[in-house]
Amino acid sequence: MYTKILAQLKSIPHPFSIDRVVTLMAPVIRGELSASAVDIYFLPQRAPSLVCWYRESPATDTRTQAKVLDAFKRGTDRNADGMFAYTLHARGKRFGMVAAHLTSASIDVREGFIMLLDYFALLLYSEKLSFLANRDRLTQLYNRGFIFQTLERWTAERVPVSIVMMDVDHFKHYNDKYGHQTGDVVLKKLAAMLKEEFKGALIGRYGGEEFICAFKNGDEKKLAAAMEHIRAVTEAADFSTAEYSLRVTISLGGAVFTPGKGVTFIDTIREADEALYRSKHEGRNRVTVAGARA
Ligand code: GH3
Ligand code: MG
Ligand code: MG
Repeated sequence: MYTKILAQLKSIPHPFSIDRVVTLMAPVIRGELSASAVDIYFLPQRAPSLVCWYRESPATDTRTQAKVLDAFKRGTDRNADGMFAYTLHARGKRFGMVAAHLTSASIDVREGFIMLLDYFALLLYSEKLSFLANRDRLTQLYNRGFIFQTLERWTAERVPVSIVMMDVDHFKHYNDKYGHQTGDVVLKKLAAMLKEEFKGALIGRYGGEEFICAFKNGDEKKLAAAMEHIRAVTEAADFSTAEYSLRVTISLGGAVFTPGKGVTFIDTIREADEALYRSKHEGRNRVTVAGARA
């Protein structure tokens, strides 16, 4: 049984692997321990305590959560009081915990299962590292470094690539009026929306309240349509928080990288950025494609 699970774990493709690994492992852990729910915690770099990454138990169950945090702090595992908690460690670091809510007080754990958990830890650790290195912490979108790397690879393949730069309109106003935290919530919501709407595209946080999206296609009409779609979806979306009722608009600029023209993707990003500037200049909440006449 374990050999099959190991083979499955090894076959998970990159990227987005953490969630794939977790999705595969959670039911295995649940089944092995006859548990009602499995939670997985990670310790982010420089963070004071664990954060829950994957949760099956009710978020309101703060008592067992406290037990997990306590076990991690003490450096002990637990298999009592209906809770099985196992420390995830790799390369000499303790970086997380698997916690299972048992249906009995404690459970006999097979040695092979512990080996599997350790292997799971090893996989998660390397995935966590590459994930964190490629991602922006706030939005979980790709960061600029990863976007540049990928664009470099794509353009070396000599295929046309569309690049879109997006910037939130009057974002400073959200911070000034509602506070930086609300500003962060808006950015996270917008990021999640971009991911949902641009499935299959490369999406990143370029900086502050600026996002970038790229896809392998050189059709200017398709590019303009995709941009207009995301502009309209953003304008129509509800960004309200518990406290404030909020709306957001974005301005967009797009450009196409065409291979064999002696330009690099950096030139294309600059063109898209200039187009974005035109969108801002002409009143915001609009799209501009580089070179296209309005
Ligand atoms: P414009 O329509 O011209 O783009 O106006 P703007 O206010 O969006 O432009 P500006 O570049 O002056 O302001 C950007 C603001 O974004 C300023 C900065 O405080 C805020 N910002 C950048 N990064 C973050 C972040 O991670 N969180 C929050 N809350 N605010 C951020
Ligand atoms: Mg800006
Ligand atoms: Mg802005």
